[in-house]
Amino acid sequence: MATSSATVDPEDVQLEPDTLLRIKKLADLTVDDITTIYTLGDELGRGRFSVVNSAVHHAENAKYAVKVVENKSLADEENLEALETEIDILRKLDHPHIVALKEVVVCPKDTYIVMELLSGGELFNRIVEQGRFSELDAAELFAQILLAMEYLHSLNIVHRDVKPENILYVSQGSSQIKLIDFGYAGVWAPDKELSGLCGTPDYVAPEVLSWYDEDDNGTPYGKGSDLWSLGVLLYVILSGCSPFSAEEEEAILQLVAKAKYEFHESEWSTVTESAKDLIRKLLVVDPAQRMTMPEMLNHPWLKDAVGAGRTAIDEKLKQKEEAQVVQQTTPAASATSTTKPAADASPAKPAPSDHPEIQPRVEGVGSKSLAGSCCTIS
Ligand code: ATP
Repeated sequence: MATSSATVDPEDVQLEPDTLLRIKKLADLTVDDITTIYTLGDELGRGRFSVVNSAVHHAENAKYAVKVVENKSLADEENLEALETEIDILRKLDHPHIVALKEVVVCPKDTYIVMELLSGGELFNRIVEQGRFSELDAAELFAQILLAMEYLHSLNIVHRDVKPENILYVSQGSSQIKLIDFGYAGVWAPDKELSGLCGTPDYVAPEVLSWYDEDDNGTPYGKGSDLWSLGVLLYVILSGCSPFSAEEEEAILQLVAKAKYEFHESEWSTVTESAKDLIRKLLVVDPAQRMTMPEMLNHPWLKDAVGAGRTAIDEKLKQKEEAQVVQQTTPAASATSTTKPAADASPAKPAPSDHPEIQPRVEGVGSKSLAGSCCTIS
């Protein structure tokens, strides 16, 4: 926990004492200067309120990814609450297909969320570069995503922003992925369903869209909203196109609200009926009629890939346990007890995408966009 108390320069950060206290509560470590522990490197990506950089931990000589959030931005209650939720959720998670949190370091100007480094770039860029996936590759990829989602949902956590930008490859050339960005995630309970508009136009579920007008009369929703986004994601992976696309955001949302999409001949003629069946059962407007997670895991198109994915996870967990035993029995090794990433993992700056952003009409809804109505992404 905290090693020294950071002083806050009021010239730089004008925060209420209560806000400062809440920021400090996020910390595993509070220091005046992050560079006493980490050397920050290249920018890996950018979000709405953060920049993600590579970093090297001095004592471990290991690479990490560090999300840097300006404390100033946390003067906004919504931002602070979102960060608290994101960190709280990240601390609960431990899954081979979900990014691992190392620690949260709070400094006077910024808060640093230190995570394992995923240096293979975004799934978004792979789709742009290589176009659509073969069904075999798509099933292998999708099974990993699903197993991460199954785990999340078992903890009653709804991600609320499943999209290719939030799925990162572990390293260049690897087919292993991890889910990132829990900035919109919410904790669901039967007596406390989720509410509010968040996500990304192309991927947002119709029931989440019911909060679009901000009149607080939307439909409460739950885990099914992620299943809709998974349906969109599968469509994108298999075709390289968005199922719902139009020039204007409003037009996209109208298509989403009615689940109006097509399997265009040019992209879909060679795709099996089984894959299309899965998408049809996910892109269903009524969440009660939509396919459930157990049904999806058992769908004939995915079943084998899910089985192979589970075996691979079991194998990884076994290796992790064995490594921990070795660490505990080797005095030198047990001196550092952190989730050290692979030594050869090197930071990779994802290629900047030239796809236009859909401008959010409501704050927080917006994303890089795939190309227009079912045409290949370029
Ligand atoms: P958003 O506005 O989409 O919610 P955010 O501020 O929450 O974004 P992230 O989406 O978590 O930020 O990260 C922004 C980008 O930084 C990602 O799209 C990715 O390219 C890069 N990135 C994030 N985490 C990692 C990581 N662990 N390893 C490598 N790159 C990462």
